[in-house]
Amino acid sequence: MLQDAFGRTVEYMRVSVTDRCNLRCRYCMPEGGVPLLTHDEVLRFGEVEAVVRAAVELGVRSIRLTGGEPLVKRGILELVRALGAIEGLEDLALTTNGVLLGPMARELRAAGLRRVNIGIPSLDGSTWSAIARGPEELAPRATGAIEAALAAGLAPVKVNVVMLRGTNDDPTPWLDLVRRLPIEVRFIEFMPMGPSDGADLFVPASETEARLREASNVAWERAGSEAGRGPVKETWRVGGSPGTIGFIHAMSDHFCARCNRLRLTSDGHLRTCLFSDDELDLKPALRPSIDMERLRALLREAVASKPRCIPMDPRHGRRWMGQVGG
Ligand code: SAM
Ligand code: SF4
Repeated sequence: MLQDAFGRTVEYMRVSVTDRCNLRCRYCMPEGGVPLLTHDEVLRFGEVEAVVRAAVELGVRSIRLTGGEPLVKRGILELVRALGAIEGLEDLALTTNGVLLGPMARELRAAGLRRVNIGIPSLDGSTWSAIARGPEELAPRATGAIEAALAAGLAPVKVNVVMLRGTNDDPTPWLDLVRRLPIEVRFIEFMPMGPSDGADLFVPASETEARLREASNVAWERAGSEAGRGPVKETWRVGGSPGTIGFIHAMSDHFCARCNRLRLTSDGHLRTCLFSDDELDLKPALRPSIDMERLRALLREAVASKPRCIPMDPRHGRRWMGQVGG
């Protein structure tokens, strides 16, 4: 079991497989993209697999592949297949912007992927394009990925909506989708991560919730799918809807006390807190050859140094969100 100095058990690891992305969302990356890692700096699949294997041996039960955009990574199915076969791993998930997901959804499921989170800033094509900084004709592919994921059995399908003041801050169009589909829509507070600035873009989750409750005009019932484990405290059905709504108070009510996660960056650094640049380089245990014992020791060392809680000013960070993987 991986337990930190504050009694938190670490059983979840987010694994960034690439720093590349086919979009440039305003909340995540600068318009020109981030300086890219060289091919050699990025972990190879065998190395990622070794880190995951070591983590699972120590008690990690849940892995989420992320990016940049994980589906632009060549051979991603191969990695999913290899990780899916690791004994003891109970949950293999992936977070994607959805643009490439539709045609790949069934193959990913067959390879061993359990479920997906899809980051979609808006259901409206021009708003999606303004935030994702991608051509508007890609918007239907991103939104269409929701139903493709459901059809492929990648359930539960969760949709991440990061709210930005002045662009997508009206959440009410999402109500129809929640009334129609068995998905979880999670409204996330914008975190001005890394060198980004945007305090003026921040929308409190409490405001989003108030707008949704007023517009829905019906009673909400507690659904509570992942309460206590993930960043969403409670989820809600809207007048018996098949879908649910959740809120991630990333800034206004941080969840450090419940934090059970580690992050592996695509260049092989372990990050024990999203907001801390203190990282542990795992490459010495991976190159020139893989040393499982040393990997396990480094994982234990990282978890032992996990900070209790980093003050809520992530702006000093060195990496953008897209370089950490969310
Ligand atoms: N490309 C994939 C995607 O867009 O979902 C995976 C990587 S992305 C960094 C993971 C998630 O981070 C996104 O779905 C988005 O919801 C969230 N995210 C990105 N930047 C954020 C920010 N500044 N504040 C809060 N959430 C953010
Ligand atoms: Fe790319 Fe995802 Fe970041 Fe958007 S949120 S720029 S899709 S990594």
